[in-house]
Amino acid sequence: MNLARFPRVRLAHLPTPIEPLPRLSEALGGPEIWIKRDDCTGLSTGGNKTRKLEFLMAEAVDQGAEVVLTQGATQSNHARQTAAAAAKLGMECHILLEDRTGYEHENYRYNGNVLLDVLHGATIEHRGPGLDMNAEMEAVAEAMRAKGRKAYAIPGGGSNATGALGYVNCALETLAQLTEMGLRVDHMVHATGSAGTQAGLVTGFQALNAQIPVLGIGVRAPKDKQEANVFALAEKTADKLGCPGVVARGDVVANTDYVGEGYGLPAESTLEAIDLFARLEAILLDPVYSAKGAAGLIDLVRKGHFDSSDRVLFLHTGGAIGLTGYTHVFDVAGRA
Ligand SMILES: *Cc1c(COP(=O)(O)O)cnc(C)c1O
Repeated sequence: MNLARFPRVRLAHLPTPIEPLPRLSEALGGPEIWIKRDDCTGLSTGGNKTRKLEFLMAEAVDQGAEVVLTQGATQSNHARQTAAAAAKLGMECHILLEDRTGYEHENYRYNGNVLLDVLHGATIEHRGPGLDMNAEMEAVAEAMRAKGRKAYAIPGGGSNATGALGYVNCALETLAQLTEMGLRVDHMVHATGSAGTQAGLVTGFQALNAQIPVLGIGVRAPKDKQEANVFALAEKTADKLGCPGVVARGDVVANTDYVGEGYGLPAESTLEAIDLFARLEAILLDPVYSAKGAAGLIDLVRKGHFDSSDRVLFLHTGGAIGLTGYTHVFDVAGRA
């Protein structure tokens, strides 16, 4: 596996730190919990999409793109990081936002990631729920191309084989850090959505024979569908890397018990995870992804899913800026 063969632009502050979470570990009374801080990738408040964009935007540059398009939910962290990357590279950015939650609160519609999309100069158009958003985006990209513009379209979440290379890189980086620190890790846990993060990690770890099982905590799709999506993308990523077949179906494991009522709608366990991480470790989670991932981690620790002698590494995938779009779910007025 040779990642250096692929064009890459540097956008992220890497390596991201790996730190212990002693107060959370003690409060839960199970395994030792550590965190990898991909919320600290740096670009416009950070997050996991920046690693993917290092490879995606390099492809856009190589193709001479003038405008990049992408799509996501209203409070998409991916759209915001794409808008920031485009600004940094001097390209236009056009975003399609899907109203997936039905929230009409002003902060949800205009604050958080949406504010940053605007500040980075992206243009935005909206779509109602339930459409094939990648097809909607492709249609807009085609219309631009018909007018002679060089448009590069990035799928939702940056999740194709090119984007997943960013998380192959994260697997390499993590293994090098753990070796350097002399730290054995028995499990890695993170929130999984459009699948690129888990697909890249699993492919990277398998190609390196790292023997670190990855558990994705779902935020939207049911388990069978989520695992199938991740596996399909892992196979494509392995092909691209030149190590076809390195990932087996059984290497892809997702737990989708913590979605609650749906994508972007925080459950009780989501809010508890935000509270625990903020009060015990001063770490901010987001209500759409990282807090659902952490809720899964917390519940599985309580259920004895991990050995107390295990060390579990939680990958913080970012997104905390989205909290400012969710003021309505916290009793701020009642407490401030
Ligand atoms: C997109 C996102 C995820 C999920 O990553 P995928 O690669 O889409 O599975 C997790 N956490 C945050 C904060 C995200 O923005």
